[in-house]
Amino acid sequence: LNAVSRRYPIGAQVFGQKNFLTAVDAVSLEVRKGQTTGVVGESGCGKSTTGRIALGLEQADGGQVLFEGIPLPQADTKDWRAKRQRMQLVFQDTLAALDRRMTVGDLIAEPLIIHRIGKARDHAQRVLELLEAVGLSRHHQALYPHQLSGGQRQRVVLARALAPNPSLLVCDEPVSALDVSVQAQIVNLLMDLQREHGLGILFISHDLRIVRHVSDRIVVMYLGRVVEEGRADAVIDRPAHPYTRALVSALPRLPGGFEHYVPLPGEPPSPADRPQGCPFHPRCALAKDICRNSEPPLLPTEPERQVACHLVTD
Ligand code: SF4
Ligand code: MG
Repeated sequence: LNAVSRRYPIGAQVFGQKNFLTAVDAVSLEVRKGQTTGVVGESGCGKSTTGRIALGLEQADGGQVLFEGIPLPQADTKDWRAKRQRMQLVFQDTLAALDRRMTVGDLIAEPLIIHRIGKARDHAQRVLELLEAVGLSRHHQALYPHQLSGGQRQRVVLARALAPNPSLLVCDEPVSALDVSVQAQIVNLLMDLQREHGLGILFISHDLRIVRHVSDRIVVMYLGRVVEEGRADAVIDRPAHPYTRALVSALPRLPGGFEHYVPLPGEPPSPADRPQGCPFHPRCALAKDICRNSEPPLLPTEPERQVACHLVTD
């Protein structure tokens, strides 16, 4: 993604002037082949919209979406549908995501039929392969979604996403609805599948604990903007932005100890009511006058690392 933005009109028109909510503001990020870019932030920070823009499900107002080095074609065109096969979305709430009148076998065969992948007589075999790839078996084929556990349903969702042989998965809170022990299983399965198929993964979550576990790079978003971005180990070991520091300090203690807990007061303000200056300043313990007046740009602090904070980049 190259500086993509998305605004939504809100409320009534006042004197012919529309109000806009900026959901995503000049966000740039990259998912490399076989690697995971994690996007973390509280709800309303624009991370889901960012994922939908990456897939072309949502049109950016500005900026550019490149897939395999080429601008993503306009949504709903033939070219886009061909690309779209290779970019799949995995999201939470799998009971709603799966048609409850279809069996597991039919659910997994459906994307093969929709995308006209392979010959119809080979589909049964392919369904078995996909079941096995996600740790299910032929015995699950005849079951319906409500007969499965949450973890098994998420495996079916993954099998469906893998059916068209994607090169990119956009996973939006893929395990948030699951118990912690099941979360780990699904996340490990995702990482195994990534290694096997060289998948690029855009992993979107509010949970830094999981993002840190899966990501090669981490992008921290706050109110529609990227506030910090870099290699996962660097961001976790040396968080620079005060917001990232607060998120990292809330992680379970690492062996060898870690810096003091940094409290994060209050809720994130609504994107419809963005503070002036640094969007984080009302919650930032380090805020200075400049923070209330001017918005800090995202600037490199070291190779492959960018931070948007006056204190860090000045
Ligand atoms: Fe805090 Fe100022 Fe940095 Fe914003 S720019 S995060 S308010 S110190
Ligand atoms: Mg979301």
